[in-house]
Amino acid sequence: MLFSELPLANPLQRAVRAVGYEHPTPIQEKSIPSLLEGKDLLGIAQTGTGKTAAFALPILQRLLDSGKFRAPKTCRALILLPTRELAIQVDECFKQYAQFTAISTACIFGGVSDVSQKRNLIRGVDVLVATPGRLLDLINQKAVSLKALEFFVLDEADRMLDMGFIHDIRKVVALLPQNRQNLFFSATMPEDITKLAATILRPNPVRVEVAPQSTPIERIHQELYRIDKRRKGALLKELLLAHPEMKKVLVFSRTKHGADKITRVLEKAGVKCAAIHGNKSQNRRQEALGNFKSEQIRVLVATDIAARGIDVDDVSHVFNYDLPDVPETFVHRIGRTARAGKDGIAISFCAPDEEQDLRAIEKLTRISIPEGDKAIYEKLPPQQKETPESEMRNARGRGFPRRQERHEKNRPQQNRSQNNPQNEKRPAQNGGNVQNANRESRGNVSNQEGRRTIGKNRPGSRARKRMREAAEAARRAQGN
Ligand code: AMP
Repeated sequence: MLFSELPLANPLQRAVRAVGYEHPTPIQEKSIPSLLEGKDLLGIAQTGTGKTAAFALPILQRLLDSGKFRAPKTCRALILLPTRELAIQVDECFKQYAQFTAISTACIFGGVSDVSQKRNLIRGVDVLVATPGRLLDLINQKAVSLKALEFFVLDEADRMLDMGFIHDIRKVVALLPQNRQNLFFSATMPEDITKLAATILRPNPVRVEVAPQSTPIERIHQELYRIDKRRKGALLKELLLAHPEMKKVLVFSRTKHGADKITRVLEKAGVKCAAIHGNKSQNRRQEALGNFKSEQIRVLVATDIAARGIDVDDVSHVFNYDLPDVPETFVHRIGRTARAGKDGIAISFCAPDEEQDLRAIEKLTRISIPEGDKAIYEKLPPQQKETPESEMRNARGRGFPRRQERHEKNRPQQNRSQNNPQNEKRPAQNGGNVQNANRESRGNVSNQEGRRTIGKNRPGSRARKRMREAAEAARRAQGN
């Protein structure tokens, strides 16, 4: 089937051609005709199946057909998503598909100032893409009302429940007008999701179930490098230098500190890269993601949490710099490549203390990962002998404060507090508000308390000089 055979208006057909779609994906082929008829839909599908266009195109078509206009501080279609990254992506898709129409869209999510978001809602919007917390917040502030809503989409429902949004969803649903078209998407349908769907959808919705195009694992070429922890950075660097075809590379690090360390190694080698993790402000994360998407940087280093839900086309290589403790996370990570029917390459580093994680991954995926090109080891510095102390330091989760302390001493004063292990904990303490956490940590720069924590037992350079002079004077006096 061709997109041109679907009853979509010219501006939408033009947009579809502009983004390069020729044939609808199975979920699009199954959903679009029923949605155009105004039916409710229960979609069981994952990201990567083309589900965004499956709901966006018919909603846009019906918005165009209805002849209604948006009223101030209202929206006509609401798309609810669990994370800001997903909200931004879906908003971008709507903007692309609606580019040749007068339909307006807005995107609201937490963790950033609400000022511009409220401004965008003053005149009302046709399509509002939102995360639940910020939506309820702006409803309470009377910046937006749902009374004129015609279309409601709940996307990634299972993830919403995992993330504890059930009460927020119920509050939002209670505010919706009775007469509306509902679309409900979830990758899985356990009992609690089925029950939630029944409270949102009208009776007898169209049910569309789409398996992922194929288990990504089968299309992903995998390689394994057994390497001690200390030389992982050098190995990554050498592989990137030796393989210019590694163009859009996603590197997974277990920790935020580790992600920053990887980017420092790569930057030193002249590889354009950036890191995204919970300690980076929303703006920095979006900037890094944008630069990665547009290939201004070659490597994006991410922690699992920060990478959740990000959808970047054409990731050529995924690196597991550290193996995850949970084998399912490995499948999730490498699924970032080989999207939309393309092939991809996943390269995993395994340190001696990660062998157990590797066995769990191979057991789950039922694949024995072949070893990569051994010649690369010759380009690496020789393995240093591990002392009991260095082993302790390298052991997972330990040794961090000491390495951090050493590193802090060598860094300019202004940057110090950002990676202070105490600040690492802040996002969780204040409800994951990354921006506030960063603001706080920036505020700490001139905070003497903070400095003292870092160099607790170490006198300042002037004090050391004075002590040296005093010791010399004492020696001289003794000599006399
Ligand atoms: P989604 O599942 O909506 O996140 O879509 C996954 C990816 O598939 C996105 O990058 C879309 O741009 C792309 N995509 C969606 N529909 C089509 C299509 N009909 N043909 C080619 N690519 C598509």
